[in-house]
Amino acid sequence: MKGTSMYHEQFDAVLIGGGVMSATLGTLLGELEPGWRIAVVERLDEAGSESSSAWNNAGTGHAGLCEFNYTPRRADGSVDVSQAVAIGEQFAASLVLWAHLVSAGRIGEPQDFIRPVAHAGFGRGPDGVAHLRARWAALRGHPLFAGTEYSEDRAQLADWLPLMFGDRPDDGPVAVTRSTQGTDVDFGVLTRRLLTALRSHGADVRLGQQVTSLERDGEAWDVGVRDRRTGAPGRLRAPYVFVGAGGGTLPLLQQARVPEVRRYGAFPISGRFLRTADPDLVAAHGGKVYGHAAPGAPTISVPHLDHRTVEGREHLVFGPFAAFSPRFLRTGRLSDLLRSVRPGNLPVLAASARDNRSLMAYLVRQLAQTSEGRLDALRTFVPRVEADDWELVTAGQRVQVLKMSGGRGAMVGFGTEVVTSAGGSLAALLGASPGASTAAATMVDVLATSFPGRMAAWAPRLAEIVPSAGGAERLEPAELLARAQAARRVLRLDEATGGPREDLA
Ligand SMILES: Cc1cc2nc3c(=O)[nH]c(=O)nc-3n(C[C@H](O)[C@H](O)[C@H](O)COP(=O)(O)OP(=O)(O)OC[C@H]3O[C@@H](n4cnc5c(N)ncnc54)[C@H](O)[C@@H]3O)c2cc1C
Repeated sequence: MKGTSMYHEQFDAVLIGGGVMSATLGTLLGELEPGWRIAVVERLDEAGSESSSAWNNAGTGHAGLCEFNYTPRRADGSVDVSQAVAIGEQFAASLVLWAHLVSAGRIGEPQDFIRPVAHAGFGRGPDGVAHLRARWAALRGHPLFAGTEYSEDRAQLADWLPLMFGDRPDDGPVAVTRSTQGTDVDFGVLTRRLLTALRSHGADVRLGQQVTSLERDGEAWDVGVRDRRTGAPGRLRAPYVFVGAGGGTLPLLQQARVPEVRRYGAFPISGRFLRTADPDLVAAHGGKVYGHAAPGAPTISVPHLDHRTVEGREHLVFGPFAAFSPRFLRTGRLSDLLRSVRPGNLPVLAASARDNRSLMAYLVRQLAQTSEGRLDALRTFVPRVEADDWELVTAGQRVQVLKMSGGRGAMVGFGTEVVTSAGGSLAALLGASPGASTAAATMVDVLATSFPGRMAAWAPRLAEIVPSAGGAERLEPAELLARAQAARRVLRLDEATGGPREDLA
């Protein structure tokens, strides 16, 4: 045993990665155990610059209000809404946590990171319209979804979404659901605010430090770091480690020889979007509008046209279009994919290639797509498109984790998996969906798996700041709605709900 030698810096918890997940976990630990020494180690010079950065994700505050993929259709035509309700509850928990921090004066003005924007579902063709109507009918009785409107009337749709329906030729049945409870979130700003607050409460937030090794040593974890500018090495030691390194998580777990992921593989898919800042286009589209995937296409292909506000500037963004890069982080190495291949995960890689043929075929089609093909996809939303108005931008990397499930190679990337090892002393987050929106609830899940013995003592405080999540007592929907509404007032989400501007209507 190496012991606690002089050169080790001691902490109670080391959180690897400065994205929204580590920032949220650090915030919760700081609330629950104010005396703990917490370190956050981020390899880049600015936190929240990988997947959590505003332009590396779509900024949708996923609350289940408009996404078809959270409400799959059953064979009899009815809709399973359980996932949409769960995500609605998780997002409500995030709102309550953020409102608590705003009220305490710890993360600044809410409009710097969250804004109201209508969330709309867009059904096309007889099947799409039937799916949307069934979705709306099944959800409208739930308090978190109350107030969602549904229409097939083109005049009404043109009033809600002029860019899409103001001048639309008759292209068959269409329908829209519209909720004014939707949000646009800048998770990059939020991450930096959370970490600044954490630092001012005594946490050690280290930027520009790459975690290079992770080793179990007796009752603690030994975390090797390297200053990326000077090359200077360092060692941190803590009984608890969270790996929230996004695309860098699996390589670190592999390096640490964590047995739970020995058979896991990974496959990176990057997302691209068409973007415009044209003032007329931006002003004519005040929502985030989610369509449905084409028949046979995977859920990551769900197209959406979003109004976004980033650093005070308004844009429209359409996508995602899948692309391939072998890097696991935007700022990662070209060799990331190759380095992740190990004898232990070769069978899962082969099985995943075999068992995900439709996804592979979709990716190949996406890679072969021309710029005209992308504009055609946009035309299903915006009938009249000028190519010069739109630029193609690359967003973040999604590292889809591959593992065996029921004898088949499966992708975990469309859900999230909390991996724990060494009696819960190490926890890691794998998978990319539903993402940053559910950070508060997901991090309560991490606490529950990592610290089962402390949850009873933490429960009263957790119930105040993250209701209905993980170990916290589940609230009745009406009570959760009341908490969410109070949070919305603090976050100033009811002041100017996104919609077409009066002067253009
Ligand atoms: C195209 C796309 C669209 C998305 N759209 C949405 C959306 O609309 N709404 C939503 O809620 N979610 C969305 N998501 C998901 C969301 O972006 C992620 O779930 C979330 O940002 C993940 O946060 P994180 O903290 O786990 O990872 P990151 O934000 O990637 O943070 C990980 C950090 O770890 C650091 N790191 C990595 N390796 C090391 C190391 N060895 N040492 C030190 N630091 C390290 C990285 O530099 C990085 O800063 C989207 C994702 C993508 C890719």
